[in-house]
Amino acid sequence: MQNSETTAIVKKGNVFDINDVLHDFQANFLNEVVCREWVLKRLHPVGAYCPGCGVAIPEKSLQRFWMSERVKCCQCNKFFTALTGTFLSGCQLDYREVILLAILLSTDMSDKTIAEILNMSAANVRIWRNKFEIMGKLKNG
Ligand SMILES: [Zn+2]
Repeated sequence: MQNSETTAIVKKGNVFDINDVLHDFQANFLNEVVCREWVLKRLHPVGAYCPGCGVAIPEKSLQRFWMSERVKCCQCNKFFTALTGTFLSGCQLDYREVILLAILLSTDMSDKTIAEILNMSAANVRIWRNKFEIMGKLKNG
């Protein structure tokens, strides 16, 4: 029964395979909010603090901080975002791209293929591979 139903809807033009997914896959398939919240919780597990003077970010600025927008410290007047002073500081990737990059780096996929999916150079992929390896060593002592 299941087979005949499957057969009925499967025609050459209305299926896709793994190669089709791989061909079209990019960061847009991922959810930006989910990726941002996950990354920022990892970077700031004990809360939001000014990377300059260490003062806790006041309630009124917290939303901007967690939205990854620019915040001004009320104590030292330094401007910063949730990425300032972290290993992702200055990276040109959005949060979906960071997650996607990490996942792709964990596969056997070549730097060239990863570079194509993320629209970056293979050299840049190698830099990120090294960066994540260093973070892994740092994390695991
Ligand atoms: Zn400060």
